[in-house]
Amino acid sequence: MTAAGKERKQSGGLAYDYDVGGLVEAAREARLHSYSPYSHFQVGAALLTENGRIYTGCNIENAAYTPTNCAERTAFFKAVSEGEHSFRAIAIAGGPEGSSREEQDFCPPCGVCRQVMMEFCSPKTFEIVLAGPGDAVRIRTLEELLPEGFGPGNLEGTLQ
Ligand SMILES: [Zn+2]
Repeated sequence: MTAAGKERKQSGGLAYDYDVGGLVEAAREARLHSYSPYSHFQVGAALLTENGRIYTGCNIENAAYTPTNCAERTAFFKAVSEGEHSFRAIAIAGGPEGSSREEQDFCPPCGVCRQVMMEFCSPKTFEIVLAGPGDAVRIRTLEELLPEGFGPGNLEGTLQ
């Protein structure tokens, strides 16, 4: 069992139906493709679909700054552009350029990415796996990171 599994077992007693450690490694690998010449903060994400596929993403910065895209949204947009709409979890790994695995702290998703997750994921069941120093992980549901989030359900009955 991974460290992640132990943490969940202690906090909620639920078992994982996916390879938490493998998803984190995929995020760490995606981080290596980060294009971040301005912040020098490299982020990678690995998004797991309900049918077991993994889409990775990295942060992609821009000289004009605002067109910058986060690793999480890169992964989501890649997946959605290929027809995926059902997601189980996303792992995120981030840290300053050149930092070691032990130096990389938990890297929570920004508010914009949380909102994108809200569009496609169940707040109660979608899990966000934050890679911490070494093999440490922190796992949160979308609802925990975006309480009372606004999503497609809020528009039900208002669209023609
Ligand atoms: Zn973001």
